Amino acid sequence: MKLPPDARFPTICIHAGQTPDPGTGAIITPIFQTSTYVQDALGQHKGYEYARTQNPTRAALEHNLAAIEGGRAAFAFASGMAAIDALTTLLQSGDHVVVTDNTYGGTFRLFEKVLRKYGLEFTYVDTSQLELVERAMRPATKMIFVETPTNPVMRLTDIAAVAALARRHGARLVVDNTFASPAVQRPIALGADMVVHSTTKYLNGHSDSVGGAVIATRAEDVEWLAFVQNAAGAILSPFDSWLVLRGTKTLTVRMAQHNTNGLALAEFLTTHPKVTKVLYPGLACHPQHELAKRQMRGFGGMLSFDVGTFDAARDVCNRVRLMALAESLGGVETLISHPASMTHASVPPERRQAIGLTDSMVRISAGIEDPQDLIDDIRQALA
Ligand SMILES: *Cc1c(COP(=O)(O)O)cnc(C)c1O
Repeated sequence: MKLPPDARFPTICIHAGQTPDPGTGAIITPIFQTSTYVQDALGQHKGYEYARTQNPTRAALEHNLAAIEGGRAAFAFASGMAAIDALTTLLQSGDHVVVTDNTYGGTFRLFEKVLRKYGLEFTYVDTSQLELVERAMRPATKMIFVETPTNPVMRLTDIAAVAALARRHGARLVVDNTFASPAVQRPIALGADMVVHSTTKYLNGHSDSVGGAVIATRAEDVEWLAFVQNAAGAILSPFDSWLVLRGTKTLTVRMAQHNTNGLALAEFLTTHPKVTKVLYPGLACHPQHELAKRQMRGFGGMLSFDVGTFDAARDVCNRVRLMALAESLGGVETLISHPASMTHASVPPERRQAIGLTDSMVRISAGIEDPQDLIDDIRQALA
């Protein structure tokens, strides 16, 4: 089992970083549920000393994720937020970060409520507008933090254009690629310096693990992240690493069905008389459909739609039978949610309004069920 140097994406997902266990030949990397490793003699060990620092299951996942995103190295953390927190330690007091205004609520909370205390500064702009990013740049800007598509209004940022802008200003471009997944979008190939994931979502894909990862390209960032992963210690457990590794093997086929189902639901909803608006980058009516075709392969499983009033949105969420009313996304089962009262309840109403997040908006994370069953369910919920 040797990965050819020109292996294509689905093959990389399955084989990168994976070698049969040398002791037994087990094709799957075992769950190394151990805290320490026995040394042969004083100063002689097998590269493993203590499990916060090194764990073979986590290392197998990290090699796999680095190859999947096309980075130099990956680091797995206990959650997506722990991963984002770790990469901000590349910054110093006084540094400034430009952030997508419609960023994940937990990211906003970390930046505003925690990291500001340490002298970091954040400016939130609509990064889909390049001139707004340009205008927000300061001499102290060391990082641009972009999410595309955004949650739940599905706004896109031109990764290649922002990467060029970041380079001109000597800032790092970080892309939170959770929403698209690397099967749909490869930020490093488009010029990003770093990718961050909540592996909780599409990478694990089965709604049974919380985790995060940072994939870095610059040697100095790799060195620092390895240091801080051990120094701060928010590592992904061996069992969760194993679960995510199992998830990435089927990422390509899962995402193909997520893409199919997302598009099928979006197209159905555009024809429904009670639906006033559908937000999905795969629709020709999406204002950034051309950009979506350029930087995404397939358009993902996330979509939002507007049903005119809060009451109508509540009724749809309460009446679905097959879909589950729940937060989170990226699992094989379809989830429905009401962003204004659930995932985005902590976002002040005026901010929600500014990004176009209405009280009548419903979000769907399309799973991989039969698309007709999903359409039938949403049709009866809307009836
Ligand atoms: C869920 C999510 C996170 C946070 O990840 P956790 O694993 O919940 O800590 C960050 N960014 C995006 C886009 C997410 O969807």
